Amino acid sequence: MIRALFLGGVLLLMVPSTVPATASADPSAAPTSHTAPTDPLMGPADATDEPRTASAPHNASETPAPFLVGSGVYDITGPPADVMMAGYVEFSQTTHGIHTRLRSRAFVLVDPASGRRVVLVNIDQIAVFQAVSERVLERLRATFGDLYTAENVHIAATHTHTAPGGLSDYFMYSSGTAGFSQQNFDIVVDGIYQSIVRAHQSLAPGTVRMARGDLLDSSVSRSPDAYLLNPQEERDRYRANVDTEMTVLRFDRADGREVGALSWFAVHATSLHSDTTLISGDNKGYASYLFERAKGTRYDTAGTFVAAFANANAGDVSPYPGSRLNRRKEWECLEGPHIRCNATSGRKQYDRARALYDGETEPLEGGIDFRHRYVDFSSLEIDPRLTGGAPAHTCYGAIGLSMLAGTPDGIGITRPGQSCTDPSFLARLLCLRHPCHGVKPVGLATGRGLLAPLTPQVIPLQLIRIGPLVLIGVPAELTTMSGRRLRETVLKELEPMGVRHAVLAGYANAYAGYVATREEYQRQNYEGASTHFGEWTLAGYQQEMQRLAVALREGRPTPSSATPPDMSKAFRLRTPHRIPGDRAPWGKAFGSVSVDAADRYTPGMTVEVRFWGGYPNNDPLIQGSYLEVQRAAPEGWQTIAYDWDAETRFLWKAGWFKTSKITVQWDIPADVVPGRYRILHRGHTLGRKGRRLPYEGVSRVFAVERPGTVPADSVPHPARGAAPASGEVVILSEAR
Ligand SMILES: [Zn+2]
Repeated sequence: MIRALFLGGVLLLMVPSTVPATASADPSAAPTSHTAPTDPLMGPADATDEPRTASAPHNASETPAPFLVGSGVYDITGPPADVMMAGYVEFSQTTHGIHTRLRSRAFVLVDPASGRRVVLVNIDQIAVFQAVSERVLERLRATFGDLYTAENVHIAATHTHTAPGGLSDYFMYSSGTAGFSQQNFDIVVDGIYQSIVRAHQSLAPGTVRMARGDLLDSSVSRSPDAYLLNPQEERDRYRANVDTEMTVLRFDRADGREVGALSWFAVHATSLHSDTTLISGDNKGYASYLFERAKGTRYDTAGTFVAAFANANAGDVSPYPGSRLNRRKEWECLEGPHIRCNATSGRKQYDRARALYDGETEPLEGGIDFRHRYVDFSSLEIDPRLTGGAPAHTCYGAIGLSMLAGTPDGIGITRPGQSCTDPSFLARLLCLRHPCHGVKPVGLATGRGLLAPLTPQVIPLQLIRIGPLVLIGVPAELTTMSGRRLRETVLKELEPMGVRHAVLAGYANAYAGYVATREEYQRQNYEGASTHFGEWTLAGYQQEMQRLAVALREGRPTPSSATPPDMSKAFRLRTPHRIPGDRAPWGKAFGSVSVDAADRYTPGMTVEVRFWGGYPNNDPLIQGSYLEVQRAAPEGWQTIAYDWDAETRFLWKAGWFKTSKITVQWDIPADVVPGRYRILHRGHTLGRKGRRLPYEGVSRVFAVERPGTVPADSVPHPARGAAPASGEVVILSEAR
């Protein structure tokens, strides 16, 4: 995360957790054949839907099937109104609509020989907070028994900074997003769970293949002066101060059907800056969108193609290569609005991943294994071999003054590099109080909260081996060099068993700040100041991951040395709720158009229609859409774009007297089919006793023409406001 965190606020409400009742299933009923089981929650898995775009079988006839593979995707788009976004800690950055929907993307992988399985999940979120992963695991346990546990479930976040927040029950992170949002929390937990269920249901014999390659010109160091403090001979081994390698996994079923792609590339999902108030998956969400669109993914369907773009050691990596700093000292998008740079970064990641996916790939064989352990990092003795012989230990969680400085992705209020070597009186005073933290002047000792720690200190570490590949699951943002060192540590232990490639899978299973190298820490930039457990934090990770790796190699169990505290009993700052109730202006109905479309448009123009609507949070339309762009076809209205499409935007603005102003924008693409179009908006108002009442609004019919041509009047011209032909709106079949 970036920027200073909100330190004030009052502990308001204690919210005990409740375990939702979920249907149970026999965990032993894991499918071992093509036949997916029937889930009481979802009905039978739909294994018959073909993608809209046919995809070529990949060596279908000659490929043996060493695994069962399955994929699932589900909507996790939280409240589109009034919820503060997580990441920039900009209190004015509250949700005001949707650019692209947020998704949870899951893959389940089973090794039939050993019976071992892993779940790899990637979510369009800032981080995976402990409360979220714990609740997902509870729900999995209720459905599947011991099949999916903290050991073999890996949930990681893309680190988008434009998702609604309020998901943590650690005070620093809930107060940093203006409080806990129960509505958002429930949506995210349920969506992750549903994506895993879908992946489980679609398990079928298949293969996993890997490809690796460099992606240049897509990332830049945002802390180059700190990087330079790493030893020269170490830096000389690498050609850049950021990692440029992308790793792609390709999942195929033995029947030739493509299951999905999962890639890792280290770059901050901060293409959109803190002035963005539309929910968006940022550059990684956009890359997923492009890949899935190209493969004809249907978001309402289990067993559809899923493309996840995960993050790696992106702690000091920005998505603005070749850019310059503006007057605020933030990266400037040289292409115009940040939404353009977001598209460029997303497209580069998609193009590279797609080329690797389509190119030569190496089969991953040799089975699945994993190790997981909770470790208390607040006072971890460090092996003298990692400290040059001196006794050393990690420290209780704390953040330094320079965390308030921010980064070029989002600038803060103080200067970077404030350290205990400063002549500043304040810095020296803070250093005297917290000698354990070395050169870090401690602004807030988050590990020493009055009633409970303000940030996690007992954190999950995870290794997942898939043949020659190992994933290093860490609940943190490792800098480039930290990630390299940790990969080396793990690979050294696992190479004797044939593991040749390590991926630093960051932002996984919990969130506990940054990890800078000890040398970088001395500079006390934002990343060093946000390294919670002191200058030996990375050494702690290396030591504990080495132990996990040795246990994996030797086939030994790894019992946890600590248990995370039950934070569900802790106080939570709550997001203030809007007073319920909706109104449309006098004489207007919900869904009525206030500003209509023009008569005619050409590609490249933007259609804009305004409606009087309901408060969007009344129903976030999970798996649905607030808008549809429809084209007149001989058989009726055909929907060609939804609110998750990058060419549309759904905007909400509060009006007077509880009215909601809804604006729908559609950027007409260059390859549009000329014809007659209309814009539809749907939502819910809150009636008496909190009843949700659906409404719809439709724009006038307008023409989209090629420049210099006459409108295509040969197609039928349905009456203005006509209802969509039933059966045409396939994607919205699950919309409530
Ligand atoms: Zn970050």
